Amino acid sequence: MYFCAMFQPLNNEQLIAVANEFGTPVYVYHAEQIAERYNKLTDAFKAHPTKFFYACKALTNVNILKYVKSLGGLLDCVSINEVKLGLLAGFAPQEILFTPNCVDFDEIVACVDLGVRINIDNISILERFGNVYGGSYPVCIRINPHIVAGGNYKISTGHIDSKFGISIHQLRHIERIVKTTGLHVQGLHMHTGSEIKDIDVFLQGLDVMFGIATHFKDLDFIDLGSGFKVPYKDDDQETDVYLLGQKVAEAAMEFEREYDRKLEIWFEPGKYLVSECGWFVVKANVIKQTTATVFVGVNSGFNHLIRPMFYDSYHRITNISNPDGAKRIYTVVGNICETDTFAWDRVLSEVREGDFLAFHNAGAYGFEMSSNFNSRLKPAEVLIQNGQPKLIRRADVFEDLLKNQIV
Ligand SMILES: *Cc1c(COP(=O)(O)O)cnc(C)c1O
Repeated sequence: MYFCAMFQPLNNEQLIAVANEFGTPVYVYHAEQIAERYNKLTDAFKAHPTKFFYACKALTNVNILKYVKSLGGLLDCVSINEVKLGLLAGFAPQEILFTPNCVDFDEIVACVDLGVRINIDNISILERFGNVYGGSYPVCIRINPHIVAGGNYKISTGHIDSKFGISIHQLRHIERIVKTTGLHVQGLHMHTGSEIKDIDVFLQGLDVMFGIATHFKDLDFIDLGSGFKVPYKDDDQETDVYLLGQKVAEAAMEFEREYDRKLEIWFEPGKYLVSECGWFVVKANVIKQTTATVFVGVNSGFNHLIRPMFYDSYHRITNISNPDGAKRIYTVVGNICETDTFAWDRVLSEVREGDFLAFHNAGAYGFEMSSNFNSRLKPAEVLIQNGQPKLIRRADVFEDLLKNQIV
């Protein structure tokens, strides 16, 4: 088993120090924890050539991108702006995979011009791409294997009603386009959703992909997307990447004998790499006792961390400034003027007005999905590396709200 002796998780004192120095609310990321995750993945899949493209929509701060690059990671991007951020962070064009959905063809052309790898997820785009580029620019095709998986409907992408990918039932049509235009199909891709604990979902997907692969002669890779589950609650389990790594290697080696060609396996982890590296630290503004509930009202809201309201997601919360206080039951809410609940009936160490609370697992889809709703300012981001906190995004100031307004 992989074991990293150097790795020490952040402690409450470090989070409090950041809150005091940079103010709250603030997102805090721990670089070495990203490294720990990345190294665990590469170790788990070392039995077969495997590449990891960080799905950067989870957290796109350029400093994080640079850090992932320094670890040897590659990049999966869903918009041209993510591609540009990746290039800015130092990724070579061929280290970037562009996996768009429903974008204008111009955006795909722009990415070809930048030299990045292209993943196509629609028949009409595939046909158009083939007509324009023929076999001159290799592509990857995103397949929808119609496997239902994922933590909830909003993050499940492989089912029959999903807008993602080209259905396996359209294989004949894909073949027709490839044959007619001479397209060079270099890879096949699938991504069935997020928060998939059951490794059989990946293995089933791999099986489907192998079935399709036999229809293409010169594939270099099969991309299984992502969806690795990470624990949010204490008793949550994460995807067993070691077992998956072993099974994928066995299956791939067997298929390579039949296919008579080496095939790399690719993954696009987002959450797995950056969820647990992040904390969102807020301040308790008020304790509000109503007839039925004790609310903690914090100096943030779903404008900063939307996952609980949007996905019904659970984030562990700890009172970092009174960790040994008596346990009490609270409902933690934000300051946005509509229902804005982070957590119902949560047992926390007694919260006093002014205490700092830390939301765990806030690295992925936290800051990234924040907004200025209620004309609130977006929080700062701080990266702790080698024990040193560094401001990697300043908090909004009032002028930022007016930046693009024409007054
Ligand atoms: C969002 C996304 C991912 C990352 O999913 P996680 O659950 O965060 O690991 C990977 N690939 C594609 C194409 C995505 O859209």
